[in-house]
Amino acid sequence: MPHRIFLTIFLTAILLIIGCKNKKQQAVYQSARPVHEMGIISTSSSPNAKLHDVPISAVTLGDGFWQPRLQANKDRSIPELLRLLEEHGVVDNFRRLSGRRNVERRGYLFTDSDLFKWMEAAALVLQSGDDPQLKAKLDSVIDDVLAAQGKDGYLNTYHQGERANERFTKFKSNHELYCLGHLIQAGIAYYCGSGERRLLDGAIKYADYVISLFGPDKRQCFPGHPEIEMALVELYRTTGDRKYLDFADYLLNHVQLDKIEEKMTASDFQYLFSGLPFTSRKELKSHAVRAMYACCGATDLYMETGNPAVWETLQTLWKDMSQYKIYVTGGVGSRYQGEAFGNKYELPNERAYTETCAAIGNIMWNWRLLNVTGDERYTEIMERALYNGFLSGVSLTGDRYFYRNPLTSFGDNERQPWYNCTCCPPNVERTLAKIPGYIYSTSPEGLWVHLYHSNELNWHLDDGQKIRVKQVTKYPWENKVEITLNPKTKKEFSLFLRIPEWTPGASVSLNGEELKDKPVNPGSYFEIRRKWKRKDVVVVEFEMPVRAVFSNPRLGEDLGSVALQRGPVVYCLESPDFPNTSVFDVALPLDPENPQKGFTTQFQPDLLGGIVVLRKNALAYEIPMTDQPLYRYAPFKRPTRSVELKAIPYYAWANRGVSKMEVWVPWVKE
Ligand SMILES: [Zn+2]
Repeated sequence: MPHRIFLTIFLTAILLIIGCKNKKQQAVYQSARPVHEMGIISTSSSPNAKLHDVPISAVTLGDGFWQPRLQANKDRSIPELLRLLEEHGVVDNFRRLSGRRNVERRGYLFTDSDLFKWMEAAALVLQSGDDPQLKAKLDSVIDDVLAAQGKDGYLNTYHQGERANERFTKFKSNHELYCLGHLIQAGIAYYCGSGERRLLDGAIKYADYVISLFGPDKRQCFPGHPEIEMALVELYRTTGDRKYLDFADYLLNHVQLDKIEEKMTASDFQYLFSGLPFTSRKELKSHAVRAMYACCGATDLYMETGNPAVWETLQTLWKDMSQYKIYVTGGVGSRYQGEAFGNKYELPNERAYTETCAAIGNIMWNWRLLNVTGDERYTEIMERALYNGFLSGVSLTGDRYFYRNPLTSFGDNERQPWYNCTCCPPNVERTLAKIPGYIYSTSPEGLWVHLYHSNELNWHLDDGQKIRVKQVTKYPWENKVEITLNPKTKKEFSLFLRIPEWTPGASVSLNGEELKDKPVNPGSYFEIRRKWKRKDVVVVEFEMPVRAVFSNPRLGEDLGSVALQRGPVVYCLESPDFPNTSVFDVALPLDPENPQKGFTTQFQPDLLGGIVVLRKNALAYEIPMTDQPLYRYAPFKRPTRSVELKAIPYYAWANRGVSKMEVWVPWVKE
């Protein structure tokens, strides 16, 4: 009998402990938004954000351009990258600290961030729908990561164990705060995807430890590689705890350089895009990914604080990029040396560095600027980078990656499954997983549509009115988008439709009647304000001709050449499509008065995952240019041999083996 009482008490106690633990896991943070309401960035309470996020979980993608890519991301890219991270010891680096593996630490000092980015990607995928197998894998990795965390909260596999005395001594190169930033982002994504707090609690413990050591009246630190700034602002949005926002502000604007213990030069701070006050920056002149991440953090900071000096700097830097330093593919960071932004108009094609991570940073930054303003010019750059300079970073099979994305290749570029510095692959994976969250926003006025893709939205307006939206389209291959709105009750609000800058013209109809009372201007959002009812149908049709893009004459390398674009997709010529001619010997006859004349387009479902191919009669040199002299005292003869020009989307190149490729094609007067 006493045994039975003891057993009952024991079992009750166990159940109570489990119950408490579960309760703790389910609980939300103080002042935080409901977990299911959080988007890629959670801007709905940000006082200086015009647009508010729609969570990934509210959008179900239908068939179309991105859906097979997201499927490949989930089925192939994410499992395969974890296998490679395991193979290269990146997970074992954590297990060795907890005694689960007796191995040497392997890899660069920032490999933790690669695993954290993988974890964020997996957690973002879980926001799109349950996947018990992926969840189990992620949970197991989380166990290994958290088991390595020090009692004080510190967590960085390179600086634990035998190198513990080097902790927080080399901010220029040690990437500790950078890795922490990625840990925070993974923790938030996992919290949103599962409702479970443990990874985020681990990240918070580490962040609190850092904040206890450094700050305005304490020892000074700087990130070395920006990233933590945007993570801290998101942590503030997630927890409601202002100290994270204040620390982000400290890192961006208030580090006391004279008190930094490490030997640093002014050019170090310039290149690292940290340390110096963000508001002192006048141009993008530094490591490109660092600059993009710092700009993301500063835009997040602005959304919460409204500091006008931060906004002014963001505008100056955005102008520097968009007017002088961005490729037609949306890639940025042209210079090999230092993986850096070059000078104005320094945009070489074959030597383009254009790291995939820099294109991703550009997407993340422009998404934030769009959230502040609702201005289409930011969506334009985001979309350009998404369909081109970002997407070229991954193979159609989803398991090969480019680190660099050149615009000309002489046949020496091949995507690789693994890089020792493997920052880009998990960054690609988390970006693909975010795409459903980039399609819509809300504002007090109504609903915004930024990207076009078949999908179903199940969400609510800012005032809580429930709404379902169905989008049907074959964009970007076809020019028509049909949007059916289903508000729960009849309701007045605005629908903002993005009219891209690349279209010469567009029309919008409502329930079968074209809206003609105001112009539909490319490069803007077209607002329809009315009392919406169930089954209202809006159809947008874009003119989608093949467009020849001419470059500013200051861009010497592209002088006399054009890039081809249709919709948001930039094209290239690739050697498998030119069996008897070098792609570099082809010239495109164009009528300068009507450069879009004479192209034909055809959707080829079996080619490169299904693409629209562009064709036009073109010319090639009778004698290959490689057999002609380097210089001569008269102009080279005009090409006369007839060839068919066939162009494929730039993102799809290098999927048919090693090839030669160019984006900018010389043109001659027709
Ligand atoms: Zn990278």
